[in-house]
Amino acid sequence: MLRAILFDLDDTLLDHHSAAAAAVVDWAAELGLAGGPDHVRARWAEASDRHYRRYQARELTFVEQRRERVREFLGHNLDDAEADDQFGRYLTRYEAGWAVFPDVRPALGRVRAAGFAAAILTNGDASHQALKVRRLGLRDLPVMASSEFPAGKPDPRAFLGACARLGVAPAETLMVGDSLDNDVRGAEGADLQAVLLDRHDQHPSYEGPRITTLHDLPLPI
Ligand SMILES: [Mg+2]
Repeated sequence: MLRAILFDLDDTLLDHHSAAAAAVVDWAAELGLAGGPDHVRARWAEASDRHYRRYQARELTFVEQRRERVREFLGHNLDDAEADDQFGRYLTRYEAGWAVFPDVRPALGRVRAAGFAAAILTNGDASHQALKVRRLGLRDLPVMASSEFPAGKPDPRAFLGACARLGVAPAETLMVGDSLDNDVRGAEGADLQAVLLDRHDQHPSYEGPRITTLHDLPLPI
């Protein structure tokens, strides 16, 4: 029997992609960087993915991955203070763009009405992710971040740690997220149930449970 639902945060509840893309284009315009918006967005996304992955692998601290993203984007000669200052210019804009997808609040309402426990399991820094959730007005959703566990998603320890904290068995827990590898395959590897939230229809041939909007989240009674 299903008792709890774990939601990923970035690009599942929070439209991280849009906020990051708008922020980097504005920041690049302030700096007078060459290249059109598509080029700027792609370069920042590439640098961000690369160094955030290193943070997830515990090769860099949270602060170091921010600096490395800036250096790859703007130039490797930046010292720590300069990199921090530049990241701050991006971050202010990124935070200003934080918003939930329109299907989030109705879905959370249905989850609660059906009597399921709900929480967020996110790869990231606990205090930064908690700040996002507070700003989004999702205060009653407990937030569990990979920085609090021995490893992040897709490592089974992240999912098992989250289930233990909620006091539910993995088989009684459903993970909902946009990453096929981190959220879905990771959860299944730890014996949770999982639904892929494929908002941009990127995995049409995925054979497991897949939805393209949280309005279609299946809630067994
Ligand atoms: Mg995500």
